[in-house]
Amino acid sequence: MAGSVTYALTGNRPMLGKRLQARSWHLVLGLSFGLILLPIGITGALLSTQVLVSAVSPLRQDLSALSLAAVLARMEKARMENHLTEVEALERSEDGTLIVSIREGYQLTRHYFSAASGELLGPVPSNSFYTAIERFHRSLLLAKPGRIIVALSALSLMLLTASGLRLTLKRQGGWRRLFSRPKEGGLSGLHTLMGQLALAPLFILSSTGLILALYRFELLPQSGPDRLIYPETPVELAPVPASSLAAFQDLPLSTLISLTFPIEGDWFDVYSVKTKQNYVFFDQFTGAALSEHPLNNGQRFMALMLTMHTGRGMVVYALLLGLMAMAVPAFFVTGLLLWCRRTSQSRAFAQDDDDGTADTVILVGSQSQSTWSFAQALQRSMLSLGHRVLLTDLDAIAPYPNAKLLFVLTSTFGAGQAPGNGQRFLERIEQLPRSVAWHFAVLGFGDSHYDHFCRFADRVAERLGAIAPILLPTMKIDRQHLPSFAHWGALLGQRLNQTVSLEALTHNVKELSFTVLQQTVYRFEEHLAVDLLISSTAADKVGDKVGDKAGDKVGDKAGDKAGDFSPGDLLAVRVPGNEDHRERLYSIAANPHKGQFQLCIKLDRLGLCSPFLTALPVGAIFQARLQSNPRFHCPASETPLVLIAAGTGVAPFIAMIQANRSRRPIELYFGCRHPDHDFLYGPELRQSLISGQLTALHTAFSRQQGKYVQDRLAEQTDRLVQHVRQGSIFMVCGGLAMAQAVAQQMDKLLTQQAECGMDMTLAQLKQQQRYLEEVY
Ligand SMILES: Cc1cc2nc3c(=O)[nH]c(=O)nc-3n(C[C@H](O)[C@H](O)[C@H](O)COP(=O)(O)OP(=O)(O)OC[C@H]3O[C@@H](n4cnc5c(N)ncnc54)[C@H](O)[C@@H]3O)c2cc1C
Repeated sequence: MAGSVTYALTGNRPMLGKRLQARSWHLVLGLSFGLILLPIGITGALLSTQVLVSAVSPLRQDLSALSLAAVLARMEKARMENHLTEVEALERSEDGTLIVSIREGYQLTRHYFSAASGELLGPVPSNSFYTAIERFHRSLLLAKPGRIIVALSALSLMLLTASGLRLTLKRQGGWRRLFSRPKEGGLSGLHTLMGQLALAPLFILSSTGLILALYRFELLPQSGPDRLIYPETPVELAPVPASSLAAFQDLPLSTLISLTFPIEGDWFDVYSVKTKQNYVFFDQFTGAALSEHPLNNGQRFMALMLTMHTGRGMVVYALLLGLMAMAVPAFFVTGLLLWCRRTSQSRAFAQDDDDGTADTVILVGSQSQSTWSFAQALQRSMLSLGHRVLLTDLDAIAPYPNAKLLFVLTSTFGAGQAPGNGQRFLERIEQLPRSVAWHFAVLGFGDSHYDHFCRFADRVAERLGAIAPILLPTMKIDRQHLPSFAHWGALLGQRLNQTVSLEALTHNVKELSFTVLQQTVYRFEEHLAVDLLISSTAADKVGDKVGDKAGDKVGDKAGDKAGDFSPGDLLAVRVPGNEDHRERLYSIAANPHKGQFQLCIKLDRLGLCSPFLTALPVGAIFQARLQSNPRFHCPASETPLVLIAAGTGVAPFIAMIQANRSRRPIELYFGCRHPDHDFLYGPELRQSLISGQLTALHTAFSRQQGKYVQDRLAEQTDRLVQHVRQGSIFMVCGGLAMAQAVAQQMDKLLTQQAECGMDMTLAQLKQQQRYLEEVY
């Protein structure tokens, strides 16, 4: 153990690890093709405006009511009046203009033509602004190599949208939440929001662009006009004007794409007409259709691809595409900034970001969430020393082949058991290889007055010791004693030959000021609970969640908005001026509205914080910290919920019920002493039943009916079995005694049902994250 641990710090690990994940794909593609996609996106957006320019152009004409013959008659009149010389072809463009190709000797020029007056409206510019932009957009002005690069960029954009979709699904919590408000704020939230808006259009743009490029490179089957067999006019007769041919009388101009005239003086030649449906060749003397070639499926498909890619003829769609094409540079810029931020040493790696690149892993076992603050302080310190740090749940333990250091910070629950997010640790560690690459250290958190002080931390250290060399002996932190934690940091620093500074913990905890707006007291005999309506003071930004373990927010000082609150989140309160500096956590009982929250506090007369909070008068100001509590967030899916609580344990459920706008089935089992005295949030719950946000309410009033929540569960066996079968999620919140009684009842119920063939135990429910507990 003497000396310091030395290891190679590989700050620039390659991103392509063994498990190339969606994030890595996204990053690699974005960084490699971003600079090329940038001008392609901008030129695409510019090209989309062409449709609008054409739509308002004076050259645009209403051609919908005209037949081809009517236009030909005007053309012939113009020729007679010497306005026109030899016309070789007539085209109708999607933007409502008519173009004639005129041959003078060997010179072929194209002119806009007025169907109304039969006059030429001016030459079609051969190298307009838009043609130059189009050439750049298609080939970067680099001819064939440029086209290949553009095609590859289209492919990369397609893959970027696919990987972006995958990441968004993961972040948002599934398809149902794909379009709900991004969970994270700031730059990351903006990037996600743009993805939500632009993923589908960008997928259309990239896939159609790729198909068009493949077609151009003849990598897709070709079948165009050059494969057509041109017939000949069989018999020479007296010439007739084109406008008099019956076939052209019935041909609406709106379906025409182009008409090519027979060469003057060549009686074999024919009229060739291209419409949206076919190619038809007509006898120049009789107008009889000599042959017809319908467009094949490939040609129709390519026409559709072109329309979808350019939006030609559809102003709104084209502009929408243009707007979405502008998202490409915006994605590049925000993505690049996010990447810079992530790679900078001050960024954290979240649980989701286990891409195998971290050299330091911090695993947190926490029941009350308070251990996360300590873990984050360690994380910040290690990041500042240049380490790549993964911070995640204790249950997530894995071999981490690239890690050199592994820290476990864990509390102990009940009689030496694992806290909520560490219950699978002992089972999972058995699955690890017998020898790993990292050194480890364990830090236990607990209260030395209780039996089993840090017992679980000892068990963790023992198991880890069997597979990995120890870095530091296990240290136990009594009641969040900050100097002990700082001392451990100093020991760690000595061991690593680096300065690990953990004193900053208290300074990094951003507390906000809250004012008490209203106080509702529930009293039954000597028991007292107080509902506090509180508001953040104007100077503070509510929602600034320090202590949030959800990756991107770790250490993020930018104030999130109140809307970032999720039901299940907590308020951490420290009693001012007391040597007991431990935070007490309280569930936030109502969705924040304009910075207002509700808390429900049960008075523990022998305690410290609950007497402080329950005695606060209206107008009093106190400091507290908002803490995200993802472990007890309402599961994202629309799966039915069975909520079980007693007393103040109902608080987080009130927030969940209020947030149930989609009316997912939610049942609440609630226990208190007396309906007239401590039925917390009774009116709100009754209102939720009426509005459908709560499906059923089962109450147990111990002093009136002699019943507890577990008794209500026992009465509702069939209902609960149905819930277990249909995949419902159970959430339990409140005191330890209640939680144990409920767990026993559920266990009993499931054991009984096992005899009837139901294959589910309470342990399995917990393992599947379908039985969540918040116990205090
Ligand atoms: C996730 C979470 C959510 C919570 N939500 C709520 C909520 O919504 N509403 C709510 O009311 N509470 C909630 N709590 C509980 C809350 O955080 C406090 O634990 C509770 O209010 C008691 O705090 P206190 O400071 O008043 O008591 P403490 O000072 O913490 O003391 C608690 C009890 O332990 C005893 N005690 C203290 N030290 C010792 C010792 N050394 N030896 C033996 N006994 C000791 C005290 O006499 C007292 O009876 C929640 C807890 C958690 C973890």
